[in-house]
Amino acid sequence: MSMTLAIFGIVASITAVFSALSRRGRRWLVRDFTHYKTIIIAWITGNLVLIAAACLHLLSQEQSEIGAVVAIMMAISLLIFCLTMLALQRRPQNNTRPRRFLAVGAHPDDVELACGATIAKLVDAGHDVRIVVMSQGESGGHAPRRIQEARRGAGYLGAQSHTVWSFCDTRLSENSNLMVAAIEEEIAAFEPDVVLTHSATDIHQDHEAVHRAVMRAGRRLPSILCFESPSVGNDFSPSFFVDVENYTNVKVEAIKLHADQRNKPYMTRARIESMANFRGNQVKQQRAEGFEVMRLVSTTVGDF
Ligand SMILES: [Zn+2]
Repeated sequence: MSMTLAIFGIVASITAVFSALSRRGRRWLVRDFTHYKTIIIAWITGNLVLIAAACLHLLSQEQSEIGAVVAIMMAISLLIFCLTMLALQRRPQNNTRPRRFLAVGAHPDDVELACGATIAKLVDAGHDVRIVVMSQGESGGHAPRRIQEARRGAGYLGAQSHTVWSFCDTRLSENSNLMVAAIEEEIAAFEPDVVLTHSATDIHQDHEAVHRAVMRAGRRLPSILCFESPSVGNDFSPSFFVDVENYTNVKVEAIKLHADQRNKPYMTRARIESMANFRGNQVKQQRAEGFEVMRLVSTTVGDF
């Protein structure tokens, strides 16, 4: 009986550990818990205490009890993990005053790189976010994989929906009228309160083309903000900042989902964190994402 319990306990505990420490498990912890590291530390500490207690017990008792001791140990280990998760506050979910945010990027990873932390924060505050990508990124990678990664990235951040259009990568400006029509279609369907897109200062020709297309398509919209892609020029000058101290890890994990682009120098955790620290320092916060304001209606300001 004790051996059966021991085997059950071992299997359950090992499953829990591998689930939590696997790439997918860790991603879930990072996305759903502000203090996810505390969960792991508490769990490891609890287990070390348990192992020590079990060893002391076995040294002073019959060795035949080993099965029961291991079973109890594993059960308590699982309990520590679950209680720590319950005790820690999940990321705040607030469904008051929902707004619709439309983020438009040129390539599959642009929105995550530029404002992934802000998107996740908006979703957790109860807002609707839609991500639109204008090209499949076929010039810089494997298009089918990039489409899939865009879907995963949007899903991980919590966007309610996303679309990937198939305008020709690196030559978006050649289809500016068609792009305007496509963005107008997205705007008509989603009716966003705020649109987030590339900056006019961006030196990537596709990013600049998307900026111009959004400004034309969104000419009747009240609020348009421009995000900071890695390719913005020195003229990029944010005047609106979102505090993302607890969301930089979420952004890092979302960017990792774009494995097709993982060798690009701007995809690293160090680069993402240093940019968040730099923008945070500008507004006396730990970490922030900066936006240029094309125009912004006051009723949306508090929603960030
Ligand atoms: Zn891009």
